[in-house]
Amino acid sequence: MAIASVNPATGETLKTFEAIGPEEIENRLAAAHATFRVYRTTSFSERSRLLRRAGSLLEEDQEDIARTMTSEMGKPLTAARAEAAKCVKAMRWYADHAEELLADEHPSDDDVKDSGASGVTVRYRPLGVVLAVMPWNFPLWQVVRFAAPALMAGNTGLLKHASNVPQTALYLGDLFHRAGFPDGCFQTLLVGAGAIEGVLRDPRVAAATLTGSEPAGRSVAAIAGDEVKKTVLELGGSDPYVVMPSADVDRAARVAVTARVQNNGQSCIAAKRFIVHEDVHDAFTERFTARMEALSVGDPMDESTDVGPLATEQGRADLEELVDDAVRLGAEVRCGAGRPGDRPAGWYYLPTVLTGITPEMRIHHEEAFGPVATVYRVSGLDEAVSVANDSPFGLSSNVWTRDASDMERFVQDMEAGGIFFNGMTASHPAMPFGGAKRSGYGRELSDHGIKEFCNITTVWTA
Ligand code: NAP
Repeated sequence: MAIASVNPATGETLKTFEAIGPEEIENRLAAAHATFRVYRTTSFSERSRLLRRAGSLLEEDQEDIARTMTSEMGKPLTAARAEAAKCVKAMRWYADHAEELLADEHPSDDDVKDSGASGVTVRYRPLGVVLAVMPWNFPLWQVVRFAAPALMAGNTGLLKHASNVPQTALYLGDLFHRAGFPDGCFQTLLVGAGAIEGVLRDPRVAAATLTGSEPAGRSVAAIAGDEVKKTVLELGGSDPYVVMPSADVDRAARVAVTARVQNNGQSCIAAKRFIVHEDVHDAFTERFTARMEALSVGDPMDESTDVGPLATEQGRADLEELVDDAVRLGAEVRCGAGRPGDRPAGWYYLPTVLTGITPEMRIHHEEAFGPVATVYRVSGLDEAVSVANDSPFGLSSNVWTRDASDMERFVQDMEAGGIFFNGMTASHPAMPFGGAKRSGYGRELSDHGIKEFCNITTVWTA
Protein backbone atom coordinates (compact mmCIF):
# COMPACT_ATOMS: atom_id res chain seq x y z
CA MET A 1 0.00 0.00 0.00
CA ALA A 2 1.36 3.46 -0.88
CA ILE A 3 2.04 5.72 2.08
CA ALA A 4 -0.41 8.53 1.45
CA SER A 5 -3.14 10.65 2.97
CA VAL A 6 -6.25 10.23 0.85
CA ASN A 7 -9.39 12.06 1.92
CA PRO A 8 -12.13 9.40 2.23
CA ALA A 9 -14.82 12.04 1.89
CA THR A 10 -13.69 12.90 -1.65
CA GLY A 11 -11.17 10.27 -2.78
CA GLU A 12 -8.65 13.06 -3.32
CA THR A 13 -4.98 12.32 -2.59
CA LEU A 14 -3.84 14.99 -0.16
CA LYS A 15 -0.19 14.06 0.25
CA THR A 16 2.11 11.17 -0.59
CA PHE A 17 5.21 10.13 1.31
CA GLU A 18 8.39 8.20 0.54
CA ALA A 19 8.99 5.26 2.85
CA ILE A 20 12.30 5.49 4.69
CA GLY A 21 14.97 3.10 3.39
CA PRO A 22 17.19 0.49 5.09
CA GLU A 23 19.83 3.02 6.12
CA GLU A 24 17.35 5.25 7.92
CA ILE A 25 15.65 2.24 9.51
CA GLU A 26 19.06 1.21 10.84
CA ASN A 27 19.70 4.72 12.21
CA ARG A 28 16.42 4.68 14.08
CA LEU A 29 16.89 1.19 15.44
CA ALA A 30 20.35 2.16 16.69
CA ALA A 31 18.96 5.32 18.28
CA ALA A 32 16.08 3.45 19.94
CA HIS A 33 18.48 0.92 21.42
CA ALA A 34 21.16 3.39 22.50
CA THR A 35 18.54 5.65 24.08
CA PHE A 36 16.97 2.73 25.93
CA ARG A 37 20.24 2.01 27.73
CA VAL A 38 20.18 5.48 29.27
CA TYR A 39 16.45 6.21 29.42
CA ARG A 40 15.74 3.06 31.44
CA THR A 41 17.69 4.59 34.33
CA THR A 42 15.63 7.80 34.47
CA SER A 43 13.33 8.39 37.42
CA PHE A 44 9.57 8.11 37.34
CA SER A 45 9.31 11.79 38.15
CA GLU A 46 11.40 12.70 35.10
CA ARG A 47 9.35 10.43 32.79
CA SER A 48 6.20 11.79 34.31
CA ARG A 49 7.29 15.38 33.66
CA LEU A 50 7.95 14.57 29.99
CA LEU A 51 4.67 12.73 29.51
CA ARG A 52 2.73 15.57 31.13
CA ARG A 53 4.45 17.97 28.74
CA ALA A 54 3.42 15.76 25.79
CA GLY A 55 -0.15 15.81 27.10
CA SER A 56 -0.16 19.61 27.34
CA LEU A 57 1.23 19.98 23.82
CA LEU A 58 -1.42 17.62 22.51
CA GLU A 59 -4.07 19.64 24.31
CA GLU A 60 -2.83 22.78 22.55
CA ASP A 61 -2.78 20.95 19.20
CA GLN A 62 -6.22 19.39 19.65
CA GLU A 63 -8.00 21.23 16.85
CA ASP A 64 -5.22 20.84 14.28
CA ILE A 65 -4.60 17.16 14.89
CA ALA A 66 -8.33 16.45 14.97
CA ARG A 67 -8.66 18.00 11.51
CA THR A 68 -5.67 16.01 10.28
CA MET A 69 -7.23 12.75 11.47
CA THR A 70 -10.59 13.58 9.93
CA SER A 71 -9.04 14.48 6.60
CA GLU A 72 -6.92 11.30 6.55
CA MET A 73 -9.42 8.71 7.70
CA GLY A 74 -12.86 10.34 7.75
CA LYS A 75 -13.96 10.15 11.39
CA PRO A 76 -16.38 12.92 12.34
CA LEU A 77 -14.48 15.97 13.54
CA THR A 78 -16.29 15.96 16.87
CA ALA A 79 -15.10 12.39 17.47
CA ALA A 80 -11.56 13.31 16.44
CA ARG A 81 -11.49 16.10 19.03
CA ALA A 82 -12.78 13.69 21.67
CA GLU A 83 -10.06 11.20 20.72
CA ALA A 84 -7.33 13.79 21.25
CA ALA A 85 -8.83 14.70 24.64
CA LYS A 86 -8.94 11.05 25.64
CA CYS A 87 -5.24 10.70 24.82
CA VAL A 88 -4.38 13.67 27.03
CA LYS A 89 -6.32 12.05 29.86
CA ALA A 90 -4.47 8.74 29.45
CA MET A 91 -1.09 10.47 29.38
CA ARG A 92 -1.90 12.26 32.63
CA TRP A 93 -3.24 9.12 34.21
CA TYR A 94 -0.05 7.17 33.52
CA ALA A 95 2.09 10.17 34.50
CA ASP A 96 0.27 10.13 37.86
CA HIS A 97 0.06 6.39 38.46
CA ALA A 98 2.99 4.58 36.81
CA GLU A 99 5.30 4.75 39.82
CA GLU A 100 2.72 3.23 42.11
CA LEU A 101 1.67 0.61 39.51
CA LEU A 102 5.28 -0.50 39.12
CA ALA A 103 6.30 -0.24 42.76
CA ASP A 104 8.55 -3.01 44.06
CA GLU A 105 6.72 -5.94 45.60
CA HIS A 106 7.86 -7.81 48.68
CA PRO A 107 6.48 -11.30 49.16
CA SER A 108 6.03 -11.88 52.89
CA ASP A 109 9.05 -13.28 54.74
CA ASP A 110 6.92 -16.23 55.82
CA ASP A 111 6.10 -17.12 52.23
CA VAL A 112 9.71 -17.06 51.00
CA LYS A 113 11.67 -18.22 54.05
CA ASP A 114 11.99 -21.80 52.77
CA SER A 115 13.73 -20.41 49.65
CA GLY A 116 16.68 -19.54 51.89
CA ALA A 117 16.25 -15.80 51.30
CA SER A 118 16.66 -13.12 53.90
CA GLY A 119 14.55 -10.99 51.59
CA VAL A 120 12.89 -11.09 48.16
CA THR A 121 11.91 -8.12 46.02
CA VAL A 122 9.99 -8.21 42.75
CA ARG A 123 11.02 -5.35 40.53
CA TYR A 124 9.36 -4.21 37.26
CA ARG A 125 12.21 -3.33 34.95
CA PRO A 126 11.68 -2.15 31.35
CA LEU A 127 12.04 -4.65 28.55
CA GLY A 128 13.71 -2.55 25.84
CA VAL A 129 12.76 -1.34 22.39
CA VAL A 130 9.13 -2.17 21.60
CA LEU A 131 7.81 -2.15 18.03
CA ALA A 132 4.21 -0.90 17.79
CA VAL A 133 2.27 -1.82 14.63
CA MET A 134 -0.88 0.27 14.66
CA PRO A 135 -4.15 0.72 12.71
CA TRP A 136 -5.78 3.81 11.27
CA ASN A 137 -9.16 3.71 13.01
CA PHE A 138 -8.16 5.58 16.18
CA PRO A 139 -4.87 6.86 14.84
CA LEU A 140 -3.91 8.81 17.97
CA TRP A 141 -5.52 6.74 20.69
CA GLN A 142 -4.22 3.33 19.65
CA VAL A 143 -0.69 4.68 19.71
CA VAL A 144 -1.00 6.65 22.94
CA ARG A 145 -2.51 3.76 24.85
CA PHE A 146 0.67 1.85 24.03
CA ALA A 147 3.16 4.72 24.25
CA ALA A 148 2.12 6.30 27.56
CA PRO A 149 2.60 3.17 29.70
CA ALA A 150 5.57 1.91 27.67
CA LEU A 151 7.48 5.16 28.08
CA MET A 152 6.55 5.45 31.76
CA ALA A 153 7.92 1.94 32.30
CA GLY A 154 11.25 3.02 30.77
CA ASN A 155 10.95 1.36 27.37
CA THR A 156 11.56 3.05 24.04
CA GLY A 157 9.15 2.74 21.11
CA LEU A 158 9.22 2.43 17.33
CA LEU A 159 5.91 3.16 15.63
CA LYS A 160 4.92 1.52 12.34
CA HIS A 161 1.58 3.17 11.74
CA ALA A 162 -0.99 2.28 9.09
CA SER A 163 0.01 3.53 5.64
CA ASN A 164 -3.10 5.70 5.23
CA VAL A 165 -2.45 7.91 8.28
CA PRO A 166 1.11 9.15 7.68
CA GLN A 167 0.45 12.70 8.83
CA THR A 168 -0.87 11.53 12.20
CA ALA A 169 2.08 9.11 12.41
CA LEU A 170 4.60 11.89 11.85
CA TYR A 171 2.75 14.15 14.27
CA LEU A 172 3.13 11.54 17.03
CA GLY A 173 6.90 11.17 16.56
CA ASP A 174 7.22 14.94 16.62
CA LEU A 175 4.99 15.30 19.70
CA PHE A 176 7.18 13.16 21.95
CA HIS A 177 10.29 14.86 20.58
CA ARG A 178 8.88 18.34 21.28
CA ALA A 179 7.89 17.24 24.77
CA GLY A 180 11.59 16.70 25.48
CA PHE A 181 11.82 12.90 25.46
CA PRO A 182 15.44 12.03 24.54
CA ASP A 183 16.02 11.43 20.82
CA GLY A 184 15.34 7.77 20.10
CA CYS A 185 12.71 7.37 22.84
CA PHE A 186 9.76 7.33 20.46
CA GLN A 187 10.21 7.36 16.69
CA THR A 188 7.91 6.96 13.75
CA LEU A 189 9.09 4.60 11.02
CA LEU A 190 7.37 5.59 7.82
CA VAL A 191 7.47 2.13 6.20
CA GLY A 192 5.09 -0.33 4.60
CA ALA A 193 4.10 -3.60 6.23
CA GLY A 194 6.84 -5.41 4.26
CA ALA A 195 9.52 -3.77 6.40
CA ILE A 196 8.14 -5.13 9.68
CA GLU A 197 9.81 -8.52 9.59
CA GLY A 198 13.33 -7.12 9.37
CA VAL A 199 12.72 -4.71 12.24
CA LEU A 200 11.07 -7.33 14.42
CA ARG A 201 13.87 -9.86 13.87
CA ASP A 202 16.52 -7.30 14.77
CA PRO A 203 18.08 -8.35 18.10
CA ARG A 204 17.81 -4.78 19.37
CA VAL A 205 14.00 -5.04 19.33
CA ALA A 206 12.70 -6.77 22.46
CA ALA A 207 8.97 -7.07 21.85
CA ALA A 208 6.03 -6.01 19.70
CA THR A 209 2.48 -4.89 20.09
CA LEU A 210 0.01 -4.98 17.20
CA THR A 211 -3.46 -3.56 16.96
CA GLY A 212 -5.14 -4.48 13.71
CA SER A 213 -6.63 -7.33 11.75
CA GLU A 214 -6.25 -11.03 12.41
CA PRO A 215 -3.96 -11.69 9.38
CA ALA A 216 -1.60 -8.90 10.43
CA GLY A 217 -1.61 -10.20 14.02
CA ARG A 218 -0.93 -13.73 12.92
CA SER A 219 2.01 -12.63 10.80
CA VAL A 220 3.63 -10.50 13.51
CA ALA A 221 3.03 -13.15 16.18
CA ALA A 222 4.58 -15.85 13.96
CA ILE A 223 7.74 -13.82 13.41
CA ALA A 224 7.94 -12.82 17.07
CA GLY A 225 7.36 -16.44 18.09
CA ASP A 226 10.20 -17.53 15.85
CA GLU A 227 12.42 -14.98 17.59
CA VAL A 228 10.98 -15.79 21.06
CA LYS A 229 9.84 -12.22 21.60
CA LYS A 230 6.88 -11.10 23.65
CA THR A 231 3.80 -9.81 21.80
CA VAL A 232 0.50 -8.20 22.70
CA LEU A 233 -2.22 -8.54 20.06
CA GLU A 234 -5.36 -6.41 19.91
CA LEU A 235 -7.25 -7.76 16.92
CA GLY A 236 -10.72 -7.66 15.45
CA GLY A 237 -14.02 -8.02 17.19
CA SER A 238 -17.66 -8.76 16.53
CA ASP A 239 -19.04 -7.84 19.91
CA PRO A 240 -22.47 -9.07 20.97
CA TYR A 241 -25.03 -6.64 22.38
CA VAL A 242 -27.62 -8.67 24.25
CA VAL A 243 -31.00 -7.22 25.23
CA MET A 244 -32.98 -9.21 27.81
CA PRO A 245 -36.65 -8.68 28.78
CA SER A 246 -35.84 -6.75 31.98
CA ALA A 247 -33.87 -4.11 30.03
CA ASP A 248 -34.85 -0.51 29.49
CA VAL A 249 -35.55 -1.19 25.81
CA ASP A 250 -35.74 2.41 24.71
CA ARG A 251 -32.37 3.26 26.25
CA ALA A 252 -30.87 0.05 24.92
CA ALA A 253 -32.01 0.99 21.39
CA ARG A 254 -30.64 4.53 21.71
CA VAL A 255 -27.22 3.43 23.02
CA ALA A 256 -27.13 0.63 20.44
CA VAL A 257 -26.93 3.18 17.65
CA THR A 258 -23.86 4.90 19.10
CA ALA A 259 -22.34 1.52 19.99
CA ARG A 260 -22.66 0.45 16.34
CA VAL A 261 -21.85 3.60 14.36
CA GLN A 262 -19.15 5.22 16.51
CA ASN A 263 -16.18 6.06 14.31
CA ASN A 264 -18.33 5.41 11.21
CA GLY A 265 -18.77 1.84 12.40
CA GLN A 266 -15.03 1.14 12.32
CA SER A 267 -14.27 0.34 15.92
CA CYS A 268 -12.99 -3.01 17.15
CA ILE A 269 -15.21 -2.70 20.25
CA ALA A 270 -18.29 -1.54 18.38
CA ALA A 271 -21.34 -3.67 19.10
CA LYS A 272 -21.91 -5.55 15.85
CA ARG A 273 -24.33 -8.38 16.63
CA PHE A 274 -27.55 -7.42 18.43
CA ILE A 275 -29.02 -10.44 20.19
CA VAL A 276 -32.50 -9.66 21.42
CA HIS A 277 -34.92 -11.70 23.54
CA GLU A 278 -38.14 -12.45 21.67
CA ASP A 279 -40.24 -10.62 24.30
CA VAL A 280 -38.60 -7.31 23.37
CA HIS A 281 -37.25 -8.10 19.90
CA ASP A 282 -39.85 -6.23 17.86
CA ALA A 283 -39.90 -3.15 20.09
CA PHE A 284 -36.10 -2.97 20.12
CA THR A 285 -35.67 -3.57 16.39
CA GLU A 286 -38.26 -1.00 15.45
CA ARG A 287 -36.72 1.73 17.61
CA PHE A 288 -33.14 0.82 16.71
CA THR A 289 -33.91 0.80 12.97
CA ALA A 290 -35.73 4.13 13.12
CA ARG A 291 -32.75 5.74 14.85
CA MET A 292 -30.23 4.18 12.44
CA GLU A 293 -32.23 5.43 9.48
CA ALA A 294 -32.42 8.94 10.92
CA LEU A 295 -28.63 9.38 11.23
CA SER A 296 -27.09 12.09 9.09
CA VAL A 297 -24.51 10.69 6.72
CA GLY A 298 -22.16 13.26 5.28
CA ASP A 299 -19.03 15.36 5.36
CA PRO A 300 -17.10 14.41 8.51
CA MET A 301 -15.84 18.01 8.88
CA ASP A 302 -19.45 19.13 9.31
CA GLU A 303 -20.24 19.12 13.02
CA SER A 304 -23.80 17.95 12.45
CA THR A 305 -22.65 14.74 10.73
CA ASP A 306 -23.26 11.49 12.59
CA VAL A 307 -21.65 9.09 10.12
CA GLY A 308 -18.84 9.97 7.72
CA PRO A 309 -17.29 7.84 4.97
CA LEU A 310 -15.42 4.59 5.47
CA ALA A 311 -11.68 5.13 5.68
CA THR A 312 -10.71 3.29 2.51
CA GLU A 313 -12.31 2.28 -0.75
CA GLN A 314 -11.32 -1.32 -0.09
CA GLY A 315 -12.97 -1.19 3.33
CA ARG A 316 -16.26 -0.16 1.75
CA ALA A 317 -15.97 -2.86 -0.92
CA ASP A 318 -15.38 -5.50 1.80
CA LEU A 319 -18.42 -4.30 3.73
CA GLU A 320 -20.60 -4.30 0.61
CA GLU A 321 -19.57 -7.88 -0.11
CA LEU A 322 -20.57 -8.97 3.40
CA VAL A 323 -23.99 -7.31 3.15
CA ASP A 324 -24.63 -8.54 -0.40
CA ASP A 325 -23.74 -12.09 0.62
CA ALA A 326 -26.19 -11.95 3.56
CA VAL A 327 -28.99 -10.52 1.41
CA ARG A 328 -28.40 -13.14 -1.30
CA LEU A 329 -28.75 -15.84 1.38
CA GLY A 330 -32.04 -14.42 2.68
CA ALA A 331 -31.26 -11.66 5.21
CA GLU A 332 -33.95 -9.03 5.47
CA VAL A 333 -32.90 -5.40 5.00
CA ARG A 334 -34.55 -3.19 7.64
CA CYS A 335 -32.69 -0.09 6.45
CA GLY A 336 -29.66 0.92 4.39
CA ALA A 337 -27.69 -1.78 2.54
CA GLY A 338 -26.30 0.60 -0.06
CA ARG A 339 -24.48 3.82 -0.81
CA PRO A 340 -26.21 7.15 -0.23
CA GLY A 341 -27.50 8.47 -3.56
CA ASP A 342 -26.50 12.05 -2.83
CA ARG A 343 -22.79 11.29 -2.26
CA PRO A 344 -21.27 10.07 -5.53
CA ALA A 345 -17.71 10.88 -4.37
CA GLY A 346 -16.15 9.45 -1.22
CA TRP A 347 -16.57 6.05 0.40
CA TYR A 348 -19.90 6.41 2.13
CA TYR A 349 -22.18 3.58 3.16
CA LEU A 350 -25.63 3.89 4.68
CA PRO A 351 -26.31 2.80 8.27
CA THR A 352 -27.76 -0.66 7.80
CA VAL A 353 -29.84 -3.05 9.88
CA LEU A 354 -30.21 -6.70 8.83
CA THR A 355 -32.41 -9.39 10.40
CA GLY A 356 -32.90 -13.06 9.57
CA ILE A 357 -29.18 -13.84 9.88
CA THR A 358 -28.17 -17.52 9.56
CA PRO A 359 -24.80 -19.22 10.17
CA GLU A 360 -24.29 -19.76 6.41
CA MET A 361 -23.90 -16.03 5.92
CA ARG A 362 -20.36 -14.67 6.10
CA ILE A 363 -21.48 -11.78 8.29
CA HIS A 364 -22.44 -14.26 11.02
CA HIS A 365 -18.76 -15.11 11.58
CA GLU A 366 -16.84 -12.18 10.07
CA GLU A 367 -16.30 -8.67 11.36
CA ALA A 368 -18.46 -5.99 9.68
CA PHE A 369 -16.13 -2.98 9.81
CA GLY A 370 -18.64 -0.24 9.02
CA PRO A 371 -22.13 0.93 10.06
CA VAL A 372 -23.88 -2.43 9.57
CA ALA A 373 -25.81 -4.14 12.38
CA THR A 374 -27.17 -7.66 12.46
CA VAL A 375 -30.12 -8.40 14.77
CA TYR A 376 -30.87 -11.90 16.10
CA ARG A 377 -34.05 -13.07 17.84
CA VAL A 378 -33.47 -15.48 20.74
CA SER A 379 -35.91 -17.30 23.01
CA GLY A 380 -34.06 -17.23 26.33
CA LEU A 381 -30.86 -16.88 28.31
CA ASP A 382 -29.22 -20.10 27.07
CA GLU A 383 -29.75 -19.19 23.45
CA ALA A 384 -28.56 -15.61 24.05
CA VAL A 385 -25.28 -16.89 25.55
CA SER A 386 -24.86 -19.45 22.81
CA VAL A 387 -25.41 -16.97 19.94
CA ALA A 388 -23.17 -14.40 21.66
CA ASN A 389 -20.35 -16.96 21.88
CA ASP A 390 -20.88 -18.28 18.34
CA SER A 391 -18.10 -16.12 16.94
CA PRO A 392 -14.39 -16.61 16.42
CA PHE A 393 -13.87 -13.25 18.16
CA GLY A 394 -14.04 -12.45 21.87
CA LEU A 395 -13.13 -8.82 22.38
CA SER A 396 -15.83 -7.24 24.54
CA SER A 397 -19.57 -7.69 25.05
CA ASN A 398 -22.61 -5.70 26.13
CA VAL A 399 -25.61 -7.00 28.05
CA TRP A 400 -28.80 -5.14 28.93
CA THR A 401 -30.59 -6.69 31.89
CA ARG A 402 -31.65 -5.69 35.40
CA ASP A 403 -31.75 -9.27 36.61
CA ALA A 404 -28.88 -10.14 38.96
CA SER A 405 -28.94 -13.84 38.16
CA ASP A 406 -28.79 -13.08 34.41
CA MET A 407 -25.78 -10.89 35.08
CA GLU A 408 -23.94 -13.60 36.98
CA ARG A 409 -24.62 -16.09 34.19
CA PHE A 410 -23.19 -13.72 31.55
CA VAL A 411 -20.11 -12.99 33.67
CA GLN A 412 -19.56 -16.71 34.00
CA ASP A 413 -20.12 -17.68 30.37
CA MET A 414 -19.37 -14.78 28.04
CA GLU A 415 -16.26 -15.58 25.96
CA ALA A 416 -14.88 -12.04 25.86
CA GLY A 417 -12.33 -9.77 27.51
CA GLY A 418 -15.02 -7.41 28.80
CA ILE A 419 -18.68 -7.39 29.80
CA PHE A 420 -20.48 -4.05 29.95
CA PHE A 421 -23.93 -4.12 31.58
CA ASN A 422 -26.58 -1.58 30.60
CA GLY A 423 -24.13 0.53 28.62
CA MET A 424 -21.69 0.27 25.72
CA THR A 425 -18.07 -0.82 25.77
CA ALA A 426 -15.55 1.95 26.15
CA SER A 427 -11.91 1.96 27.13
CA HIS A 428 -10.58 3.85 30.15
CA PRO A 429 -6.99 4.23 31.38
CA ALA A 430 -7.76 2.49 34.69
CA MET A 431 -9.52 -0.55 33.15
CA PRO A 432 -7.74 -3.44 31.43
CA PHE A 433 -8.52 -3.72 27.73
CA GLY A 434 -8.06 -6.73 25.47
CA GLY A 435 -9.67 -9.81 24.06
CA ALA A 436 -10.02 -13.57 24.08
CA LYS A 437 -10.19 -16.07 21.20
CA ARG A 438 -9.21 -14.51 17.84
CA SER A 439 -9.46 -11.01 19.22
CA GLY A 440 -5.93 -11.49 20.53
CA TYR A 441 -4.13 -11.76 23.84
CA GLY A 442 -2.45 -9.59 26.42
CA ARG A 443 -3.94 -6.46 27.90
CA GLU A 444 -3.52 -2.74 27.43
CA LEU A 445 -4.24 0.07 29.91
CA SER A 446 -4.40 -0.14 33.75
CA ASP A 447 -1.68 -1.91 35.72
CA HIS A 448 -2.01 -4.95 33.42
CA GLY A 449 -1.08 -2.91 30.35
CA ILE A 450 2.01 -1.28 31.81
CA LYS A 451 3.31 -4.63 33.08
CA GLU A 452 3.10 -6.32 29.64
CA PHE A 453 6.38 -4.76 28.56
CA CYS A 454 8.27 -5.17 31.81
CA ASN A 455 10.90 -7.68 32.78
CA ILE A 456 9.39 -8.89 36.05
CA THR A 457 12.56 -9.49 37.99
CA THR A 458 12.98 -11.55 41.16
CA VAL A 459 15.70 -10.12 43.40
CA TRP A 460 16.69 -12.78 45.96
CA THR A 461 19.17 -12.10 48.73
CA ALA A 462 20.63 -14.79 51.00
P1 NAP B 1 -4.59 -4.00 9.33
O1 NAP B 1 -4.77 -3.99 7.87
O2 NAP B 1 -4.29 -5.26 10.00
O3 NAP B 1 -3.45 -2.92 9.64
C1 NAP B 1 -2.99 -2.69 10.96
C2 NAP B 1 -1.50 -2.46 10.90
O4 NAP B 1 -0.86 -3.69 10.54
C3 NAP B 1 -1.07 -1.44 9.87
O5 NAP B 1 0.02 -0.72 10.37
C4 NAP B 1 -0.66 -2.30 8.68
O6 NAP B 1 0.27 -1.68 7.83
C5 NAP B 1 -0.07 -3.49 9.37
N1 NAP B 1 -0.14 -4.73 8.59
C6 NAP B 1 -1.03 -5.06 7.63
N2 NAP B 1 -0.79 -6.30 7.16
C7 NAP B 1 0.27 -6.76 7.85
C8 NAP B 1 1.01 -7.97 7.83
N3 NAP B 1 0.69 -8.97 7.01
N4 NAP B 1 2.05 -8.10 8.67
C9 NAP B 1 2.37 -7.11 9.52
N5 NAP B 1 1.72 -5.93 9.59
C10 NAP B 1 0.68 -5.76 8.77
O7 NAP B 1 -5.86 -3.43 10.10
P2 NAP B 1 -6.63 -2.10 9.82
O8 NAP B 1 -7.42 -2.28 8.61
O9 NAP B 1 -5.70 -0.92 9.89
O10 NAP B 1 -7.56 -2.03 11.14
C11 NAP B 1 -8.75 -2.68 11.20
C12 NAP B 1 -8.68 -3.92 12.07
O11 NAP B 1 -8.06 -3.60 13.32
C13 NAP B 1 -10.05 -4.43 12.43
O12 NAP B 1 -10.07 -5.81 12.36
C14 NAP B 1 -10.23 -3.94 13.87
O13 NAP B 1 -11.18 -4.66 14.59
C15 NAP B 1 -8.86 -4.09 14.39
N6 NAP B 1 -8.68 -3.26 15.59
C16 NAP B 1 -8.55 -3.87 16.79
C17 NAP B 1 -8.42 -3.10 17.95
C18 NAP B 1 -8.28 -3.72 19.32
O14 NAP B 1 -7.95 -3.01 20.26
N7 NAP B 1 -8.52 -5.01 19.49
C19 NAP B 1 -8.43 -1.72 17.85
C20 NAP B 1 -8.57 -1.14 16.59
C21 NAP B 1 -8.68 -1.93 15.46
P3 NAP B 1 -0.16 -1.06 6.40
O15 NAP B 1 -1.18 -0.03 6.70
O16 NAP B 1 1.10 -0.52 5.87
O17 NAP B 1 -0.73 -2.22 5.61
